[in-house]
Amino acid sequence: MSLRDIVKDGDPILRRISRKVDNFDGKLGKLLDDMRETMKHADGVGLAGPQIGIARRLAVVEVGDTYIELVNPVIVAKSGSQVGQEACLSVPGKACMVERPMNIVVQYSDRFGKQHTGEYSGFVARACCHEIDHLDGHLFYDFEYKGGYRQADKK
Ligand code: ZN
Repeated sequence: MSLRDIVKDGDPILRRISRKVDNFDGKLGKLLDDMRETMKHADGVGLAGPQIGIARRLAVVEVGDTYIELVNPVIVAKSGSQVGQEACLSVPGKACMVERPMNIVVQYSDRFGKQHTGEYSGFVARACCHEIDHLDGHLFYDFEYKGGYRQADKK
């Protein structure tokens, strides 16, 4: 495993729409291992492909005992809402409040190409949403929550 350089805000790759992963070979596993190591080394809870200069639809999320490798992830259902603070390894020194769903259902592949459906809530759901946004060229502060009217929580 090796550490990768983390791309910082201002680099156009962070604003690109990433392409699907279609090669499930050993290189993908190595890449995901590097991403996990890079994320942990930087004290993050998630890292997406574009953040290490790879515009492909893949991300890792690690919160406590939950470690998820998301390849070609798609959020297929969401419910409820939560407002909480976010930051990003690519945007040092900035944090703001963002509204996210409380619960999500994500379809994704693992490193071997096997399909999975995961249900996540709370902070893990927030981290997954943040990482999946990276794959569409969005950064968390695009969605800064400014208070005022808040969508009613839907259970
Ligand atoms: Zn981020």
